[in-house]
Amino acid sequence: TASPDLQTVVAEIADEMARRPDRGEVATYIPELARVDPARFGIAVVAADGTVAMGGDADVAFSIQSVSKVFTLTLALGKIGDRLWRRVGREPSGSPFNSIVQLEREQGVPRNPFINAGAIAVTDAILSGHQPREALGEILRFMRYLADDEQIVIDEAVAASEKGAGFRNVALANYMKSFGVIENPVDYVLGVYFHHCAIAMSCRQLAMAGRFLTHAGRNPSTGHLVVTAERARRINAVMLTCGHYDGSGEFAYRVGLPGKSGVGGGILAVAPGRASIAVWSPGLDASGNSHLGRIALETLAKRMGWSIFGA
Ligand code: GLN
Repeated sequence: TASPDLQTVVAEIADEMARRPDRGEVATYIPELARVDPARFGIAVVAADGTVAMGGDADVAFSIQSVSKVFTLTLALGKIGDRLWRRVGREPSGSPFNSIVQLEREQGVPRNPFINAGAIAVTDAILSGHQPREALGEILRFMRYLADDEQIVIDEAVAASEKGAGFRNVALANYMKSFGVIENPVDYVLGVYFHHCAIAMSCRQLAMAGRFLTHAGRNPSTGHLVVTAERARRINAVMLTCGHYDGSGEFAYRVGLPGKSGVGGGILAVAPGRASIAVWSPGLDASGNSHLGRIALETLAKRMGWSIFGA
């Protein structure tokens, strides 16, 4: 049988998700996220041949939050290579995204680059040798280059609110600093961290930015390698095992694709060799991952036969 038409499947999913009553709970720790309409749903799929299939609010920008951690990990690996793994592990945490408990046992070295502590350590690595403004500029330029879109910006109101509400992130950073895991002043590191979490992007822009992970490290717009094929494969592995915090096992079980979630309700997922996918639904599940975003990806992977574990 012929493989199902991607645009048809994407349109069906957008339609099905729009009608579901179960939408999860939007994040409430900052007002900018608390006031996002839980009825929003977007999906964008950039296929290997460059075709883009979109549904729902695929062109509406949202706060990418922890999805940014995929891109900061990529930049930090580019800057200091595998030495990064001395400061941050690559094992699933089995703990919530903002957990502090493992840091004491593990001498301030976070379990993986996608929990908050790990992402703060990664941001510290990017910051070393730069002023915060330069480091942030580098992250934003990288996003624009990958997405092939100069319109991507940081939502300054979100960044300011994150700073005002980020007591636990301040604690994590200070705690790591006490072990010598953080090199730079804590307020500089957190300034850059809060701002990269506050980048606003649409599903279309995010799916475009994720293309290098489906194309063995290559940016298909330029043909240039963003990272080596080996590194792209390894970033995908960390996304699969750690990209959804203590919901990572469930995401792998149900969706079967590397994915990274954010508390704004976005998820970037990678079907290696096939597609880069972004979904957005602001309502979250108990682990802080998009509820309908996960269901949409589960449906897409199933209908297209895209699970990395077999059709
Ligand atoms: N900026 C958020 C925080 O640090 C990111 C968390 C997330 O998206 N899971 O709390």
